[in-house]
Amino acid sequence: MMSFEVGQIVTTKKAHVCGSKEWVIKRIGADIKLQCKGCGREIVLMRYELEKRLIKK
Ligand SMILES: [Zn+2]
Repeated sequence: MMSFEVGQIVTTKKAHVCGSKEWVIKRIGADIKLQCKGCGREIVLMRYELEKRLIKK
């Protein structure tokens, strides 16, 4: 399992509609809220969904 913290920047495999692949973690709980660095839109994903979408570093 990957570890996450608020304020961390993560990179997804696929770009958001705005073209950015970078997201800032805003909240961590049962699910994880992310804000797109490109357009500022926020999304909420389950942890396993987020892990699937990320580029592993
Ligand atoms: Zn975006």
